[in-house]
Amino acid sequence: MNMNHIYDVVGIGFGPSNLALAALFDENRDSQLSAIFLEKKSSFSWHENMLIPGTEMQISFLKDIATFRTPSSPYTFINYLHSVGRLSLFANLRTFYPSRIEFNRYFTWVAEKLDQYVNYNCTVTDIHVYGKSPHMILRVIYEKIDAKSHRSTSYFLAKNIVVATGGFPYIPPGITRQVDNQRIWHTSEYLQKIEKYKSQSKYPYHFCVVGGGQSAAEVTHDLHQFFPNAAINCIHNNFGLKASDDSEFINEIFLPENVDLFYDTSGPMRKKLLEAYQNTNYAVVDTELIQKLYRIKYEESVTGKKRLHFNRLSVMKSANETDHHVEVNIKNTVCPTCIEPLQADALILATGYTYLNPPPILQTLSHYLITNELGLPSVTRNHQLLTLSNLKAGIYLQGYHESTHGITDTLLSASSIRAQGIFEQILSASRQQIKYVKTTENRLAI
Ligand SMILES: Cc1cc2nc3c(=O)[nH]c(=O)nc-3n(C[C@H](O)[C@H](O)[C@H](O)COP(=O)(O)OP(=O)(O)OC[C@H]3O[C@@H](n4cnc5c(N)ncnc54)[C@H](O)[C@@H]3O)c2cc1C
Repeated sequence: MNMNHIYDVVGIGFGPSNLALAALFDENRDSQLSAIFLEKKSSFSWHENMLIPGTEMQISFLKDIATFRTPSSPYTFINYLHSVGRLSLFANLRTFYPSRIEFNRYFTWVAEKLDQYVNYNCTVTDIHVYGKSPHMILRVIYEKIDAKSHRSTSYFLAKNIVVATGGFPYIPPGITRQVDNQRIWHTSEYLQKIEKYKSQSKYPYHFCVVGGGQSAAEVTHDLHQFFPNAAINCIHNNFGLKASDDSEFINEIFLPENVDLFYDTSGPMRKKLLEAYQNTNYAVVDTELIQKLYRIKYEESVTGKKRLHFNRLSVMKSANETDHHVEVNIKNTVCPTCIEPLQADALILATGYTYLNPPPILQTLSHYLITNELGLPSVTRNHQLLTLSNLKAGIYLQGYHESTHGITDTLLSASSIRAQGIFEQILSASRQQIKYVKTTENRLAI
């Protein structure tokens, strides 16, 4: 790693999307392209606070970071299983859906193999244009935390950046938290924050979960299983938990080849498709989990020991954290003036993620970005943002283009093919590009 070196690619974020890209750089070392990835965490992990025992992947393991583009890649899930000596046992499970814990181990195994490409503990804070037109490149500024928790600021220079920073946890309005915030948290912190409650697992806690999607259902089920005397209220605005549609014909919407269909169609048709197939991913729950929760609810009605409660057609209006509990006010959508107060020991927000486009780290570059009819950055099929002609450096963004690339964009299904498209575009551009050489600070020569 060298600050004066001009990298072909600086990747920002090292989740599955940029992991898929790093694997391509490694498999194509003869391309001579140089790449470095910056990740704010101290090591690789994938949604570590939702690795709830018993939860499963919602995609086939064949949709790993490599198989669809190169089944013979060293970075496939099958090669991982073979390397750790579990291939035959996994085959014996007769499933396409590994546990989330196992898939995180697979991703981590890949990340360890690609360690030379990553700088952990590095949070990218800003990205500037560097140099003079027409030879402008990008300066990626990051803050590094060392082993002694010292912070320092530095930068890398790049001909291309690939931003894959994921979504931001959505916190609904109306929430007041204490400074140390021990009682209200988003699912992105679930396992870490619930830990301290686990030392007294028999205590008759009262937990409240907000949301009607997969994460809400998983957390509700986990709380019910782990805390045998706890009461749980799941507040959601549907009539009942809705099943996700993962039937075969509909599931084709996630196939990489159908991204072309979506990208090539008109704006109104894209909107229509997105609306029609929300129930493949948003505010829906895996049918098996619905059945498990319903069974629990039913059995409690038999025994009379009711711990699991669903507040249907309801929204959380406000929540106020005090030293001893959380005061939650629930509004019933059928009777908007009916507010039900509820006192809980903790409130878990299963309220999803937002994808602000462009993401905040692209703010400084935003005046170079060309926008589309929706006011969003215009983007090519291969995820390159269109920029004013004086900026030749490539800005790629992964995971933020649901409105142009379809519902799979924030998900994993197409990630290997998407990374391949980005890699090939960068490779082809690099072959046509002038060679940049850094001479002195702020001067670039050909
Ligand atoms: C609990 C859960 C389960 C899921 N299960 C599935 C599933 O089964 N199938 C599926 O298709 N999708 C699933 N998803 C969707 C999920 O978005 C994708 O699985 C995947 O995580 C997307 O990868 P990504 O690399 O784009 O983003 P992320 O995984 O969010 O990774 C982004 C990375 O960027 C880092 N980062 C952020 N900002 C900065 C910065 N400024 N500087 C440096 N680093 C930064 C973050 O620390 C993170 O490591 C799930 C999501 C959740 C929350």
